[in-house]
Amino acid sequence: MAYLSRLRELVPTACPLCECASRGGDLCMACDQSVMRTLRASGPRCPVCQLALAQDGRCADCRARAPAFDRVVIAFDYTEPGDFLVHRLKSGYRFVLAPMLARLLARAARQAKLPDNTMLAPVPARRAGILQRGFNPAAEIARHLARQLNLPCQPALLRRVHEGRRQAGLPRAERMRNAHSLYDCARHVDGLHIGVVDDVLTTGSTLHSIATVLKGAGAASVCGLVLARTPHG
Ligand SMILES: [Zn+2]
Ligand SMILES: [Zn+2]
Repeated sequence: MAYLSRLRELVPTACPLCECASRGGDLCMACDQSVMRTLRASGPRCPVCQLALAQDGRCADCRARAPAFDRVVIAFDYTEPGDFLVHRLKSGYRFVLAPMLARLLARAARQAKLPDNTMLAPVPARRAGILQRGFNPAAEIARHLARQLNLPCQPALLRRVHEGRRQAGLPRAERMRNAHSLYDCARHVDGLHIGVVDDVLTTGSTLHSIATVLKGAGAASVCGLVLARTPHG
């Protein structure tokens, strides 16, 4: 496996953002830096949900009501140029982009030092999304992330109980109501640390709802592992 990944790193490819020379399907060095710059340049963040803030401390939402998840790890902000990569992943470029994006998230997860016995589980997609795309972007990221971090992944641990309404475009309060009890957990996860994998985090309502279910099923901790965080919840 290590041999194969070293071999991959040598293969000349085009950078998925600027198309200049790169290797192994990764971003070129300049694009890697500009995707990551969104994180480094933007000052303090809420320690729970990673929202960029003007000052240190928790964001207003996490202060008003502590979410059920313990923390969030993100690879980059959902803004230019990283947002383009997420768009392309979702519009079908999963074979080239999912491994590369998972490598960016793996980098952030290594820095965050997840507990050793963490198990990964993707946020289940809406049926309409799967029918339209033919795949669940979160599950693709989770699969590659698990391989890179050498952690177990349970693709069917989380299930949608019913379809609910599409979250995008709904105001925060409505998202919270909408996400409530949309999910359940396939089995007990007593004492396990769960890394819930998703592509984009907006208000955190989905992650909160899933973390509530996982804690109810015995999870010791729940960490969101998300490619990109929208700058404003
Ligand atoms: Zn590039
Ligand atoms: Zn917060």
